[in-house]
Amino acid sequence: MNREHYEIVKDAIGDKAELLVVSKYHTVEETKEYYDLGIRHFGENRMQELLPKVEALPKDIKWHFLGHLQKDKVKKVVPVVSMIQSLDSIELADKIESVCERLGKRMPCLVELHLAKDGGAKTGLDKKDLIPLVEHCMDLPHVDVAGIMVMGPNVENKNQIRETFKEGYKLFLDLQDRFGKDKIRVFSAGMSNDFRIALEEGSTQVRIGSYLF
Ligand SMILES: *Cc1c(COP(=O)(O)O)cnc(C)c1O
Repeated sequence: MNREHYEIVKDAIGDKAELLVVSKYHTVEETKEYYDLGIRHFGENRMQELLPKVEALPKDIKWHFLGHLQKDKVKKVVPVVSMIQSLDSIELADKIESVCERLGKRMPCLVELHLAKDGGAKTGLDKKDLIPLVEHCMDLPHVDVAGIMVMGPNVENKNQIRETFKEGYKLFLDLQDRFGKDKIRVFSAGMSNDFRIALEEGSTQVRIGSYLF
């Protein structure tokens, strides 16, 4: 772990947002060091890496799934995570619904939006499809859309990064207006390279990996 960077992140966050420690690429032992500091929310983006960590680490950890989720993996991922942050299609929502119905589990999800115009992740939903997807999910009793997840563009230009988060925050507020603040409560934005900008632009949860290890 990088204790100095952890303190910097905690200072930047203050009481504005939550910290999700992204443990992907890092060992069980490295992850456990953050658990021992009191962190309970961890993020992983691949099922193959998530499942062994769930097995090896304490059961009170809240795991967040961040990566693109294939429908045939839903059955294994849903039972062990407390949030799916990569909801990006109606088909995936329907699959989560059917698995959760069998388990009697309600699954908080974030819609992953594709906002970064260049140099960013290629995954995520186009913003024009956001409202139809959320409306569809309103009819699914086991899928609880709790907000949105966005990634900044992978560029040097800070203004371009800021514009992306501003756009995300506007969409988040728009969802709150439509569906209520009780329901829409998470704007997940900000990673190692851009968490400060994301926090200035209204992020309620930063997802930080490499900077902390
Ligand atoms: C890997 C990853 C992160 C963390 O990225 P870092 O740059 O290592 O902080 C955050 N969100 C998602 C969706 C990721 O895949």
